[in-house]
Amino acid sequence: MMSERRPLILGNWKMNTLPEEGRLVARQMVPMIRDGLHLRVDWGLALPFTHLSALRAELEGWGMMGGQDCSAHLQGAYTGEISAAMLAAMHCTFSLVGHSERRTHHQETSATCGLKIDRLRDQGLMAVYCVGETLEDRQRGNFSKIITSQLMDALGSRIQSLDSNGLVIAYEPVWAIGTGLTASPEQANEVHAMIRYWVVQHGGAMLAEQIRILYGGSVNASNAKDLLGCSDVDGALVGGASLKARDFTDIVLSSVG
Ligand code: PEP
Repeated sequence: MMSERRPLILGNWKMNTLPEEGRLVARQMVPMIRDGLHLRVDWGLALPFTHLSALRAELEGWGMMGGQDCSAHLQGAYTGEISAAMLAAMHCTFSLVGHSERRTHHQETSATCGLKIDRLRDQGLMAVYCVGETLEDRQRGNFSKIITSQLMDALGSRIQSLDSNGLVIAYEPVWAIGTGLTASPEQANEVHAMIRYWVVQHGGAMLAEQIRILYGGSVNASNAKDLLGCSDVDGALVGGASLKARDFTDIVLSSVG
């Protein structure tokens, strides 16, 4: 059963393509998605910072543009970082926060993610907060404990100040990202329901009803429909398949039946 929440499909291009190649992909993708669909689904791309100005004109009015990360700091001596205000100035409307690749390769903690969510909220940008367990956690049956602590450490003290325009949660089991392994629809829905229950307890029933919880982890054109058909799955965060115009379009199409 599809929920009342408007589906949201986001692509994450990671560190792929040069700006001009990216522009060509967007130029193919946008017209395919555009025809009638944009009214019933929200979609967007989390781009490398270097692509924001090149792709703005392609996406504007049709798809959302976002960053893959933002600084926990406001501004200043933080070489290499990009602030939430800089993202906003580039016409981004969202940013990923706490992607597992940032947690693994850049030692990002959930507490730091909370600060990033504050910075995004202050700029009126939507934070897409990523949580998920490793294969080891899943095999040990530890996944709910890990995910609950990721939620608590980043959102526990601030969820009351956020609404469903400012916060999306993405469940991305680490063992399914870029591996070709996907959580079954039952596994995904079980975790999504658990996350929604956590939101009921800490943010209230209204936010829990409205907040969109995305699934990410090897989503492709063939498995999207089953995952997106789950009652608590409100959309997808798509890595590899979002670089292919046809595949990403098919995933967006799957979300509207
Ligand atoms: C991701 O990067 O968030 C992701 C889910 O990647 P993939 O779809 O390639 O597994």
